[in-house]
Amino acid sequence: MRTAIYPGSFDPLTNGHLDVVQRAAKLFDRVIVAVARNEGKKPLFSHQERLELVRQEVAGLGNVEADTFEGLLVDYVEHKQAQAIVRGLRAVSDFEFEFQLALMNRKLNERIETIFMMPKDTYTFLSSRIVKEIAHLGGDVSAFVRPNVQAALRRKFQSV
Ligand code: ADP
Repeated sequence: MRTAIYPGSFDPLTNGHLDVVQRAAKLFDRVIVAVARNEGKKPLFSHQERLELVRQEVAGLGNVEADTFEGLLVDYVEHKQAQAIVRGLRAVSDFEFEFQLALMNRKLNERIETIFMMPKDTYTFLSSRIVKEIAHLGGDVSAFVRPNVQAALRRKFQSV
């Protein structure tokens, strides 16, 4: 059983994330999308909200599940008996940070490999941050996120 963990903030989940999930699901027997709880990033959505959005969108993919994690990623990967970490690479701008992260995780646990997946070219400009900015300003984000995520963004920005 080959298991991969796809960790991230997913604040919120975008079509770019889903593209990476679908690609990883073809390579691994089991993919766990792991919503990070402990980033000091002051997320717009709580980890429960982010988890629920991920859960709704991966429900149709038989070998993909959603979870949250806290603490060191490599410990969570071991706990889930997974072999790999999946991360998305959009552009050169992602590279430096992702490279550093991957090598640090390898230092912490040599057994775990990091696999990078490139999304469909139309998603290379897409980030959760930009989706939040557009939604906050009342723009249409329907091409970038699933309807459930769009509805969640609308509720969030109506209430602030
Ligand atoms: P983090 O805060 O851990 O970077 P994100 O939710 O922003 O969490 O992203 C999780 C992973 O998904 C990262 O590897 C990021 O590079 C990747 N990612 C984010 N947006 C996209 C996208 N549009 N296409 C491909 N990968 C993406």
